[in-house]
Amino acid sequence: MFQRCGFADADADLQDAAYVVVGLPFDGTASFRSGSREGPDAIRLASFNFESYDFNYDLDLSDIAICDLGNMDLGADPVYAEETIKECIAFLPDRAVPIFLGGEHSIAPPIAEGLAETGSLGVLVLDAHLDLRESFGNTRYSHACASRRILEKKGIGAYASIGIRSGSKEEFSFAKEGGIPYYTSREVHERGIDDVLERAIKKMNCERIYLSIDLDAIDPAFAPAVGNPEPFGLSTWDVSRVIERVAPRAVGLDINELTPAYDHGQTALLAARLARQFIARKAKG
Ligand code: MN
Ligand code: MN
Repeated sequence: MFQRCGFADADADLQDAAYVVVGLPFDGTASFRSGSREGPDAIRLASFNFESYDFNYDLDLSDIAICDLGNMDLGADPVYAEETIKECIAFLPDRAVPIFLGGEHSIAPPIAEGLAETGSLGVLVLDAHLDLRESFGNTRYSHACASRRILEKKGIGAYASIGIRSGSKEEFSFAKEGGIPYYTSREVHERGIDDVLERAIKKMNCERIYLSIDLDAIDPAFAPAVGNPEPFGLSTWDVSRVIERVAPRAVGLDINELTPAYDHGQTALLAARLARQFIARKAKG
């Protein structure tokens, strides 16, 4: 009689769940447009637009055990947020695949750190930005430092980013000197996502992949409601293809940087649809 207001089709209890949705409403270091703390609930609301049946994979999401734990209380202090997210990872059962709804990109380093505790982890980031700054706005926890912090975490065996088209001169030097693999949106445009993905996965050469999707990787024409929009981005089809190829071996997913105040709904809908595709693809095996 009453509809639950979590992510659509997330009706399972935690002890039975194969997938667990967690909202991480943190935007304390936003550098341009803030408001990504409203992201998780906007994605949940948008998720009710879609059929529970996914005809691509011929399965029904209502038949999959999905639990939505709701949002964590993260406050505005990045140090507190990082510690709290780490506690969350320790609390989640190992057999449930976590799907984190951001929040800004700074949610990803503590997630990667937590998931790397159970085995070496490769992190695949989709992003317009390198996010390799040592610090930004007087904090090392800034979302502009997300990939740099991920690379410093123990147990991160591999890393690659796709969709890159922005960074400081220092960040590009840092990537070059450190041999940090990144693939530009131009390469995706010119060579195709399959070619780029093939090279990225081969380079990473790891079994367990964590996928972190900064929505600004996608062109603002498709995903305008992000903190730092950057033209000449990936298409929705490109990102769908990444999920198609990576979900079977993925140990988790986050979708970050949605700022609903700048949306006419299309960015939230895309985020929800990508999360649903990830679950369906992974469940299909
Ligand atoms: Mn980012
Ligand atoms: Mn970005």
